[in-house]
Amino acid sequence: MLLPENGNQVDLGINSESHRGLDSQVIVIGAGPAGLAVGACLKQADIPAIILEKNDKVGAAWHQHYDRLHLHTDKRNSQLPFLPFPNDYPRYISRSQFIEYLKSYIEKFQMNIRFHQEVISARYDEEQWEVQTQDGFYHATNLVIAAGCTHEPFRPAWPGQDSYNGTVIHASQYKNGEPFKGKKVLVVGFGNSGGEIAIDLWEHGAQVSLAVRNAVNVIPRELFGIPIMSVGLLLSKLPPNIADTISAPILRIVQGDITKYGLRKLSYGPLTQIHRDRHIPLIDIGTMNLIKNGHVTVYEGIKEFIQDGVIFNDAKQVQFDAVILATGYHPRVNTFLTGASATVYNENGMPLSSGYETRMPGLYFCGYYVAPTGMLREIRLEAKRICASIAGKRTL
Ligand SMILES: Cc1cc2nc3c(=O)[nH]c(=O)nc-3n(C[C@H](O)[C@H](O)[C@H](O)COP(=O)(O)OP(=O)(O)OC[C@H]3O[C@@H](n4cnc5c(N)ncnc54)[C@H](O)[C@@H]3O)c2cc1C
Repeated sequence: MLLPENGNQVDLGINSESHRGLDSQVIVIGAGPAGLAVGACLKQADIPAIILEKNDKVGAAWHQHYDRLHLHTDKRNSQLPFLPFPNDYPRYISRSQFIEYLKSYIEKFQMNIRFHQEVISARYDEEQWEVQTQDGFYHATNLVIAAGCTHEPFRPAWPGQDSYNGTVIHASQYKNGEPFKGKKVLVVGFGNSGGEIAIDLWEHGAQVSLAVRNAVNVIPRELFGIPIMSVGLLLSKLPPNIADTISAPILRIVQGDITKYGLRKLSYGPLTQIHRDRHIPLIDIGTMNLIKNGHVTVYEGIKEFIQDGVIFNDAKQVQFDAVILATGYHPRVNTFLTGASATVYNENGMPLSSGYETRMPGLYFCGYYVAPTGMLREIRLEAKRICASIAGKRTL
């Protein structure tokens, strides 16, 4: 039972005790873009499914993200199954437009979403999946985990951090640059969040620096007016090293020599990086211009914290009022998926496959493949594939 704001009890049909017998053919964990995409495909195929979401709304992560955020992927390559973005949306849609789109998505498909249901364990037992939330148990033959790659913020720790007098926050806690106006701020990490947060801070009048520990690749958001994801889509037909060899001279002309600005260039290209490291390079939406014009200073990785700042790996000592960790996330599906072995996820709880049935019967992950063509596009494809796989079993 749940108590909504008006105090009346709502019976969600949850079994407060473990039982045999199915509640649905499919349970989907998470009502972010991936869970909703799977839910819509199942709904269209008339396959009963329950979506369990720990928050009180769909796309909860997008409500948390920083205000300035726009999709780095163009809208044609970012839509979920069966519903294009509205015509009047720009090519790179804003965070709030994406949230509106997700709302219209659930209105269109009327899926069976149970909010305030945090999955605390999921296990396979006697040919069915038993999923436990804080309120009770659900059973199904298929389980789709769509709990998000960005489940747990990754916060590295450095010597001396406890003695630092300034503010340290993770990028997931950053809303906008307003509180940092006039302050000296260090952004740690050169991914897409770090790059955009650096721009936002500068636009809000902060003095911005970036700590970049590793060698990097930088790609523009568009190449001669064509979205980089569409270029990536064309090149993804080739082996990554060949695609990188072809695109390298063009990228060099567009980006210039990034090593002139304190960055080290990765020895292999962006497509190999995505393929090998599962890491998206910086899709530049203006960070490089700020660096080139001296508005953002690049430093090496952090060696240690001191009371009023940090010491970098090259021994430079710099004062900062605040440090923002744009250091990524761990998926951690192993926090609730019990009894599953290393055959389905690695030591960081990162699924070993996404969009296909795993080695465990009826278990699927959706939204865990870092693709050169964008994760949202990949989610659309995976959701359709998962639904076809489940539908195929039904007809056996
Ligand atoms: C800042 C940022 C910008 C991005 N921009 C782009 C972009 O431009 N283009 C692109 O293609 N991709 C982008 N991505 C990557 C990806 O598309 C998004 O992360 C997207 O939200 C992934 O959808 P998801 O449903 O897999 O995960 P999420 O959006 O994280 O949704 C997972 C849902 O599962 C719920 N959940 C988690 N654990 C449980 C549990 N135990 N029980 C119940 N519910 C649970 C969460 O509350 C959440 O609602 C971006 C990611 C980030 C972080």
